[in-house]
Amino acid sequence: MSTNDVRVRFAPSPTGPLHMGGVRTALYNYLFAKHNKGTFIIRIEDTDQTRFVPGAQDYIMDSLQWCGIIPDEGPGIGGEYGPYVQSERKAMYRPYAEQLVETEKAYYAFDTPEELDAVREQAKQMGMPNWQYNSVTRVSLKNSLTLPADEVKRRLDAGDPYVIRMKMPRNQDVRFEDTIRGWVVVNTNNLDDKVLFKSDGMPTYHLANIVDDHLMKITHVIRGEEWLPSAPLHVLLYDAFGWDAPKFAHLPLLLRPDGNGKLSKRDGDRLGFPVFPANWTTSEGELYSGYRENGYFAGAFINMLAFLGWNPGTTQEIFSMDELIAAFSLDRVGKAGAKFDPDKTKWFQQQYLKHTSDEELAALLKQEFDLKVEDSRVVAFCKLMKERATFVKDMMTEGAYLFNAPTNYDEQTVSKKWKAESPALMTEWKEQLEAIADFNTANIESAFKAFLEAKGLGIGAVLPLFRLLITGAGMGPSMFEIAAYLGKEECMLRMNNGLSALQ
Ligand code: GLU
Repeated sequence: MSTNDVRVRFAPSPTGPLHMGGVRTALYNYLFAKHNKGTFIIRIEDTDQTRFVPGAQDYIMDSLQWCGIIPDEGPGIGGEYGPYVQSERKAMYRPYAEQLVETEKAYYAFDTPEELDAVREQAKQMGMPNWQYNSVTRVSLKNSLTLPADEVKRRLDAGDPYVIRMKMPRNQDVRFEDTIRGWVVVNTNNLDDKVLFKSDGMPTYHLANIVDDHLMKITHVIRGEEWLPSAPLHVLLYDAFGWDAPKFAHLPLLLRPDGNGKLSKRDGDRLGFPVFPANWTTSEGELYSGYRENGYFAGAFINMLAFLGWNPGTTQEIFSMDELIAAFSLDRVGKAGAKFDPDKTKWFQQQYLKHTSDEELAALLKQEFDLKVEDSRVVAFCKLMKERATFVKDMMTEGAYLFNAPTNYDEQTVSKKWKAESPALMTEWKEQLEAIADFNTANIESAFKAFLEAKGLGIGAVLPLFRLLITGAGMGPSMFEIAAYLGKEECMLRMNNGLSALQ
């Protein structure tokens, strides 16, 4: 097989918004496809209509788009193997289910849900809480293996409801090699006769998934660990059809920050971080918050996700999508659960913000806030504020004083630093400032140093007072840069205002 034949798919079910674990699965599929110059496909698995949630498919497609995980084939994109939404492929599945019945790999079962509930209840009372429809119990149930052939035909002709179940072989070891976990061996005595097809014409997940992976020529199935228990059944289904199975790679779970259990959709808002790529509002009006609306850059989110289960084997941590594509391999995906770290996520965002150009940041800031100042001023503002910010909006919260003169003065700094002699000292410094002909950062800094020396004072005795009068704040970026940014006239105005406010 040439590497160009690599075809992988991300196959979400539209049962709600895409959790960040789902985005990671999509990302690893995408990186694997692109690294191998293969094809990345999106397939929507909506055969379970009872769990269908309106809007979920659009949410999934929109989130992946935001993340830069762009499919080569999929709904709304097209491709040779479509349609890519399983409900639109409904008519394709029945012949495959019937083929399995004909070859005696599957059978019709007519037991009603009520009958099965009764059997389950009876088993529970006899101390067997985990009753299953399987190779042992099937012999005493209502199916085409126990009923006479004419009775089966009569029921089918009459349109009696039925399901088609997998005829799980007895006591057989199923083995397959998982790229991440190595050899997996499961005995069929531990597997039940899963439903493959229902008389409403809908396949279940298992059948549709195998048929579609085969028809879409999928070479590698890369999916979450929660699907590992289904893999033996899938391997048996490929066998039953006489098809080659794709290679399997089951990704490690995403764990809560304390390592205690799987990261769930409720954890995020409970523990104060988003779990979803973008905001999602349920039909009951409940909001799950998203990375996008929280101000994260898609690149930072993706970079963080890439490291939840994979590492490049070097110390490099910041990767663009192209660098991830170049570096990614399944060999470096571990099998141990990956702990999600909200602080590290913020760190990635901070690094991305730091590496974004002042011009780009200025454009983003203007999108978010209505700034009535020249573009070059906004660019200079971003240059000043970005070192201290994690999110674009932080620059505004932290640096609002660069746009508007302060009206409040940080109380803590006032009580700690503003002394009886401060007004006189600051008046003197103001005069020094005023005398600077070319009011730039370097000149302001050297005037300040000369002033300290002349007064025999340390920086800590003077700088906080200067900052307080100009910004109202106790901390911030370089005061010399701030003063140069504001200009002499504005600085004089602010010094005067501050001096009268703090008399
Ligand atoms: N539809 C399944 C899901 O929602 C796909 C599992 C698979 O990739 O086989 O995750």
